[in-house]
Amino acid sequence: MHTIEDIKQRIKSGESTARAEVEAALARAKQHEDKNIFISLTPERALERADEIDEKLKSGEIVGSLAGVPFAAKDNFLTLGGTTTAAAKLLSNFEAPLQATAIEKLEAEGAICIGKTNLDAFAHGGSTENSAYGPTKNAVDDSKVAGGSSGGSAVAVALDIVPFTLGTDTGGSIRQPASFNGAVGVKPTYGMVSRYGVVAMASSTDCIGCFAGTMDDAEQVMGVIAGQDEKDMTTLADYYTPAKVKQSAKIGLIKEFMGDGVDDEVRAQVKEYAEKLTVAGHTVEEVSMPITKYALAMYYIIVPAEISSNLARFDGVRYGQRAKDATNLDELYNKSRGEGFEAENERRIMIGSYVLSSGYFDAYYLKAQKARTLLINAYNELFETYDVLLGPVAPTPAFALGENTSDPIKMYLADAMTVPASLAGLPSISVRGGTTKAGLPIGIQLTAQQQNDSELFAIAKTMESHHG
Ligand code: GLN
Repeated sequence: MHTIEDIKQRIKSGESTARAEVEAALARAKQHEDKNIFISLTPERALERADEIDEKLKSGEIVGSLAGVPFAAKDNFLTLGGTTTAAAKLLSNFEAPLQATAIEKLEAEGAICIGKTNLDAFAHGGSTENSAYGPTKNAVDDSKVAGGSSGGSAVAVALDIVPFTLGTDTGGSIRQPASFNGAVGVKPTYGMVSRYGVVAMASSTDCIGCFAGTMDDAEQVMGVIAGQDEKDMTTLADYYTPAKVKQSAKIGLIKEFMGDGVDDEVRAQVKEYAEKLTVAGHTVEEVSMPITKYALAMYYIIVPAEISSNLARFDGVRYGQRAKDATNLDELYNKSRGEGFEAENERRIMIGSYVLSSGYFDAYYLKAQKARTLLINAYNELFETYDVLLGPVAPTPAFALGENTSDPIKMYLADAMTVPASLAGLPSISVRGGTTKAGLPIGIQLTAQQQNDSELFAIAKTMESHHG
């Protein structure tokens, strides 16, 4: 495995250079082309930046804490040096005029973006099968999905192409693909990382996070990208400080996530992890959160509502593709949007417009927001007693390509365990559990109270050292 620390050491000792590291990462990306991980690679800009960093290193100038470390970003982060497509036909020719704050912060520390990874178009989905560029294949089994929506970013880390990647998590899009491919996946507290320069999905739950091979690497990346940004009014003041390892945390195992509908091997892995937590000195108790059974219904009302509003800006005039044969303005809007969106994008725009319409607003949208408050209250109550909540990331390991594509409800059900923390804005991570008998990775989900991200990392790290 190429960890951030390994790469930094190699460059520092003179055994390697930033250019050599970027070239090696690009070569690994090419070697795994059949997995369809990247929408685009940006070798020119990456190598140019590598040379700049090597120059600085040679002349003894100050370089950042990630100098020469290659990474990749989900293709919904605006970056310079190529296109930002959000995996949608509508943006296939879109070249961003600026970079996302998270990218700028990483570059300021000397990290080098080598390319843009595949996703479900506009991040709508949980398998990367909604991409206009075709699905990404699972890291360990070509017949299985990569998960999503940040499928490409998860597989890039799982196959060790780069030590870390950026993703977005609106309802599980970092945690679930991390679980399906065997990487660490971090969704921080809502507002910890600036969303500026990232294609919006649902603004009240969109979170920027990362995939990495180890908790240490993930924590380092989060430390760089976190912080208040005047360009995103929802960002929190800097509060991110690595916490001390808690010797004995109180951990609640959510009962509702361990019942029927959960794969036996997944349930067994979570139980095993709970036992290891106990051996490591923590206390694990079963807790009940009945309201979680309504979380999926809340999510699939609130999120499409926000999507329908956020996607209104894609009108064929301001960004990306414009329909060629429109004869008036309405036709221009309709044709450009009709040609540019994927079916799942359109489904969500329609659901969102419906639940926001004057006749149904109270019955659906308002009701869902009220229920969301009850969900937040339920979490708050549990966090009075427990430091961390534990459960599976998804009900099953990676499913087969094509298995759920004809049944949107079945696809949505796979999000049941990740959307609750999203609706409550909680930090939630996916750590490696083990694998199924067939070798498919299974992730474990750990969730904490808002702004307790570093405590969450600390507990996960005690477990990593425990696993060896
Ligand atoms: N799978 C979920 C959905 O389709 C989550 C997506 C995401 O987090 N971007 O909405």
